Amino acid sequence: MVDVIISGGGPTGLMLASELRLHEVDVLVLEKDAEPSTAVRSLGLHARSIEILDQRGLLERFLAHGKQYPGGGRFAAVDRPRTASLDTAHDYVLGIPQPVTDRLLAERAHELGAQIRRGAEVTGVEQDEDGVGVELADGTRLRARWLVGCDGGRSLVRRLLGIGFPGEPARTEWLLGEVEVTTAPDELAEVAAAVRRTHKGFGIGPAGNGLHRAVVPAATVTEDRSVLPTLEEFRTQLRAYAGTDFGVHSPRWLSRFSDATRLADRYRVGRVLLAGDAAHVHPPLGGQGLNLGIQDAFNLGWKLAAEIDGWATDGLLDSYGTERRPVAEDVLSITRVQSELLSPEPGPQAVRRLLTELMGFEDVNRFLAEKITAVGVRYDFGEGPERLGRRMRDLPLSRGRLYELTRKGRGLLLDQTGELSVTGWSDRIDHVTDVSNELEASAVLLRPDGHVAWVGDDQDDLVRHLPTWFGAASEGPTVAPARSDVMVVEGPDPASLAPPDMRRGV
Ligand SMILES: Cc1cc2nc3c(=O)[nH]c(=O)nc-3n(C[C@H](O)[C@H](O)[C@H](O)COP(=O)(O)OP(=O)(O)OC[C@H]3O[C@@H](n4cnc5c(N)ncnc54)[C@H](O)[C@@H]3O)c2cc1C
Repeated sequence: MVDVIISGGGPTGLMLASELRLHEVDVLVLEKDAEPSTAVRSLGLHARSIEILDQRGLLERFLAHGKQYPGGGRFAAVDRPRTASLDTAHDYVLGIPQPVTDRLLAERAHELGAQIRRGAEVTGVEQDEDGVGVELADGTRLRARWLVGCDGGRSLVRRLLGIGFPGEPARTEWLLGEVEVTTAPDELAEVAAAVRRTHKGFGIGPAGNGLHRAVVPAATVTEDRSVLPTLEEFRTQLRAYAGTDFGVHSPRWLSRFSDATRLADRYRVGRVLLAGDAAHVHPPLGGQGLNLGIQDAFNLGWKLAAEIDGWATDGLLDSYGTERRPVAEDVLSITRVQSELLSPEPGPQAVRRLLTELMGFEDVNRFLAEKITAVGVRYDFGEGPERLGRRMRDLPLSRGRLYELTRKGRGLLLDQTGELSVTGWSDRIDHVTDVSNELEASAVLLRPDGHVAWVGDDQDDLVRHLPTWFGAASEGPTVAPARSDVMVVEGPDPASLAPPDMRRGV
């Protein structure tokens, strides 16, 4: 009996495994493929995912393998660069091929003590009040207190649970692969540019290592997209769209994907949850799928750990679905918009021209960028200040920076007054007294996923809000200021460093 079985060792499952291990939850990841996939689906990470990596001390290793594209990421391939800057310390796209992302996440999960079993295909799931039974293709039976289906768009876990997956079926399918070509580079670039003028879903260009990445619409929509395309199918479609197959040969990998757009109608049934592509699929326009999965895992990990640890309040675990499902709904919606804008029909083309002009306005530019990068996500925590429910960006502090203090995945009270206390919750929350010129609030309480759970300077009000996210106090909560739980006590008195309007009573 393990605490959590994760079905699927893709980026979502691996990220979740690490988040659970931060809280010493016993985790077993079951992955059906014996070897990691070499197919390069995702090519990059957006600002919010980059922040998440930074929050967990993973960014350095990702930066070492990726390339930063400042202001990167085009909306619906509209040829208008992003001019608006975002409120983040990481305003760039991190170009990094998915197999590298997957490998780095697997290494991290392994380092933290997650068990990862490859060649282990889940074929059956049965749950009762106390746990979940999982059957593997080789007949092995396992049992866990919880199961999370991170098993991709065709999720067996989702189907076995009977969770509805409404949305639009595939209307178009594309073939994708990395191949060698015989056509000369200039000629290839010229032909590719000419085809893209009318067919935005077509592309071929250098991928490095002498290979070319090519994408071309398929002739039909296949029943089973797990059946890989043949090189001949690829050549036929290239000829149909470009009049040449560019002499493609020696593919490293070939795959297919579609514009199917669907969202699970529930993220949880009893002791089984869904995350990542298992819960939502959409065409890769905007490059959000993997990012969304990582962010699902970041939201779910600490809540499931709290449930297992016994301190989660009623409803904490269900807040995973109520917070993340609307975010996925929004991503599906924005990809539908992008799909329409890529249509060569006159109507969508006219809308595209109008949008191109609108994107010249900085606010429109920023609005779209915040959606694609997910830095604009705000969970509904009820009435309160504007920043309530939003993620807190990294902040410079008088001693270091905020994200360096969030590595352990605990809650955090950033207190510029030095007069607040989390006594009673100090086993779950770090109390940091420090100041930042960039924080216009006396104090903020951050959940382990970095979202702002409370803003203020009143101890009684803080104590009223703590149980919602951090459960009951383990010792008597204090209403009077106590400094025993303060994490950073050395250095200048924070109150004297705070901007005047942050100082109590000034
Ligand atoms: C062409 C293309 C380009 C893309 N570009 C981007 C991009 O730039 N940015 C971005 O964010 N996203 C992008 N995506 C989307 C991204 O690839 C996916 O959203 C992401 O891989 C989802 O991660 P996941 O872990 O949820 O699912 P998956 O990556 O699908 O992983 C699921 C895992 O579960 C395993 N599994 C399945 N069934 C079982 C079973 N029964 N038992 C055990 N294991 C099982 C699978 O083998 C797989 O390893 C792109 C997708 C495509 C197709």
